[in-house]
Amino acid sequence: MTRGPIIAIDGPAGAGKSTVARHLAQHFGLLNLESGAMYRAFALKAILNDQDFDDAAALERLAAETSVTLRPERGGNRVLLDGSDVTERIRDADVTQGASRVSVHPAIRAWLVGLQRELGRAGGVVMEGRDIGTVVFPDADLKVFLDASPEARSQRRYEQNGGDPAGSDQRAISKELRERDERDRNRADSPLRPAPDAVVIDSTAMPLDEVLARIEELVRTHCANLRAPEHA
Ligand code: C5P
Repeated sequence: MTRGPIIAIDGPAGAGKSTVARHLAQHFGLLNLESGAMYRAFALKAILNDQDFDDAAALERLAAETSVTLRPERGGNRVLLDGSDVTERIRDADVTQGASRVSVHPAIRAWLVGLQRELGRAGGVVMEGRDIGTVVFPDADLKVFLDASPEARSQRRYEQNGGDPAGSDQRAISKELRERDERDRNRADSPLRPAPDAVVIDSTAMPLDEVLARIEELVRTHCANLRAPEHA
């Protein structure tokens, strides 16, 4: 039996991966899987247990007694940590910081990559993250590396958050994005970088509808195993 398509969307924070992945999932009838939410859920577990983000051995022990589940639904993923729904809580700033720090540890990555492969095994998925095309699914049918300048990414995040006339939020967002980028790009295990066969799209000066149209076209040309969507 042939599996359904696997589409990998990687890139730095704020590049628009979630918007693109959600759109593709709805348009082509695929499951949208947010791998970052799994790192976030584990970071929350570390916070709840007062665990040092730098203590690799203690984090590995904690991971052994942790369950992280992604439940794809129309419009987004519900995220369960040890059976409790933490979907909203994992978007808070302390968890965002924590996810970036726990994700440098190879044992944590190996555990979550295993779960991600299991989730995507049958195909019919669009998975977004940092290492989907390079590590999780190196044989994905289509790999997109979505990028944008740091300024454009922090501006978009700022607008998504509703803006702040004093501008202090914008400075904090910009600093947070830069720190996360640097950690993601420079870690030894699975650093953020485009797979050699990824299509790199820089959306800095590209309107969203153009980005979506370009990627839809790529899906049509790369995914011969795409079944006709139920609700296109
Ligand atoms: O994508 P999101 O911002 O939710 O990811 C949170 C953090 O999890 C990222 O800053 C990154 O450090 C980490 N991550 C990762 N590999 C992935 C997805 C996310 O290292 N595939």
